[in-house]
Amino acid sequence: MTKKTIAPDLMYRLLVQGVKDYAIYLLGADGTVLNWNAGAERAKGYKADEIVGLNYECFYSPDDRAKGIPRRNLDLALRNGHLTTEGWRLRKDGTAFWARVALDAIYDEDGTFVGFAKVTRDLTEQRASEQRFQHQARHDALTGLPNRDGLIECLELELPQIAYGSPIAVHHVDLDRFKPINDIYGHQVGDQVLQEVAKRLFAVAGASCVVGRLGGDEFAVLQFGAPGSGSMAAMAKSIVEALSVPIAVGPRLLEIGASVGVACAPGDATDLNELLRCADLALHTAKENGRNGFRFYEAAMGETKLARRLMELKLRHAVAAKDFVLAYQPIVNGQSNRTVGFEALLRWTDQTGQPISPALFVPIAEEMGLMPELGEWVLRTACAQATAWPDDVTVAVNLSPTQLNDPLLFDLVAQVLRETGLPARRLELEITETAILANLGAARETLKRLRGLGISIALDDFGTGFSSLSLVRELPLTRIKIDRSFVSDIDGGSRTTAVIESVVALCRGYGLKTTAEGIETDGQRLGVMMSGCSDLQGYLLGRPQPASQIEWPGTTSVAASIEA
Ligand code: C2E
Ligand code: MG
Ligand code: MG
Repeated sequence: MTKKTIAPDLMYRLLVQGVKDYAIYLLGADGTVLNWNAGAERAKGYKADEIVGLNYECFYSPDDRAKGIPRRNLDLALRNGHLTTEGWRLRKDGTAFWARVALDAIYDEDGTFVGFAKVTRDLTEQRASEQRFQHQARHDALTGLPNRDGLIECLELELPQIAYGSPIAVHHVDLDRFKPINDIYGHQVGDQVLQEVAKRLFAVAGASCVVGRLGGDEFAVLQFGAPGSGSMAAMAKSIVEALSVPIAVGPRLLEIGASVGVACAPGDATDLNELLRCADLALHTAKENGRNGFRFYEAAMGETKLARRLMELKLRHAVAAKDFVLAYQPIVNGQSNRTVGFEALLRWTDQTGQPISPALFVPIAEEMGLMPELGEWVLRTACAQATAWPDDVTVAVNLSPTQLNDPLLFDLVAQVLRETGLPARRLELEITETAILANLGAARETLKRLRGLGISIALDDFGTGFSSLSLVRELPLTRIKIDRSFVSDIDGGSRTTAVIESVVALCRGYGLKTTAEGIETDGQRLGVMMSGCSDLQGYLLGRPQPASQIEWPGTTSVAASIEA
């Protein structure tokens, strides 16, 4: 085979013409297209005879041409010898593609400027996937909203605007009852709820706001422009209202509700992290104030946090030193008027002699992880105490959510009963819906095993939380305690007696006992008894008192018999 020599000029021409991935061609000094290769034909759709001789301006949009961009790019390439740029260019059929362009000024052997070498690459697909990736990194896949990173980026971009008199409000939104819904109905239902929440927030926020999902059941609405306190309050109120409308998922209507904390830049903070912290503090206060509402950030909220830290410190010491006592409140049978049991209630007095309510410190001890230790002390002390009471009197012990979800709870209770000698039938454990819903499956199993020992299980504060009737049916309960809020309304009208009546009827159907909590007046006692409630508890029947002050018929006090 004879070897054919190719002239260098032809070699270059063949090389350039043959390249298909890059459009490579020459432009005259004024931008006239001088030649054309296969890559250019593929990228732009023109054949060589259609384009050679025309000005390369035709690849630009009318808008870019009107702005003089084609000419300016040539000038830049000439001045600097080289220009790389990216932008939308047009194909022959009018469709646009994203082009990366390199323009080089070229000179002949004498150094005379002759025009430009132009290399263009179609990066439309690459750009789309980059944008998809960027979108994914900054957006939440479930709702399509910006995620925490996306929101922070948006705030970083907008925060400098506050210097020009354009304040920003951050509305930190947290759903009130999302977790139980997720636990009971499963993640699929939970996901649908979150998608609906996103839609509602989007509709409420409108065009001047950005809505994002911070994670879990937390969202944020960034309100730009000039949000005075009036418009901030109106926005927060609309958010709360929009989310208090029940959400329909399949056949279910789910009541979720939300709390909102509002902070504003520059009023509350000018720094990004500080602004988010203020909104978070405001949100916590809104939650503490009973949920389903909104709060603006106030400087005092920081002080509250300080007070809380002090409380944590004192509590840690108190738990280590077992610096608590138990008070016992009688539970009285409505028919016989006999005391059938006592509920053990924690009492704590700090070093200054100030009594602190368990409603305040128990949840804090719970959050600090101190409840297993403190709860074990309560259980042991109450069971030991009850052994001194008549054999038909029970003792009720409250369990915190972490205690109920502790896999060692069963062993602990069995051990305490063994050690104190209290028969299992005399112990009643009080649990709350929140504790059960934290881990429904595990709670059900533990409760079944405890029931197996002969221990009674009461569902406390019924009516304040989720009040799921399916829970009442599903769990091995022996008693429902109807919350004080239903009892305290009795004197005011008959509507609440109707609620108590229906709960009692339901419980009777399942063979459960009922206790009405918080009876303070004769009217309430009568109302509750007419509703058919089996047992009564409240200040009218007896306040919580130290074991030493409990009096039994025929004796002065149990303490006297114990201490004797
Ligand atoms: P709870 O278990 O529902 O206890 C009943 C609460 O209602 C007690 O408040 C009791 O003093 C109060 N109460 C009883 N009758 C009346 C009445 O007629 N009127 C009014 N206004 N209140 C009445 P307390 O002792 O302040 O306890 C509050 C909550 O703290 C308890 O609610 C319980 O959830 C929690 N707690 C108390 N001790 C313990 C404990 O040892 N462990 C756990 N995990 N929680 C406890
Ligand atoms: Mg209780
Ligand atoms: Mg209660």
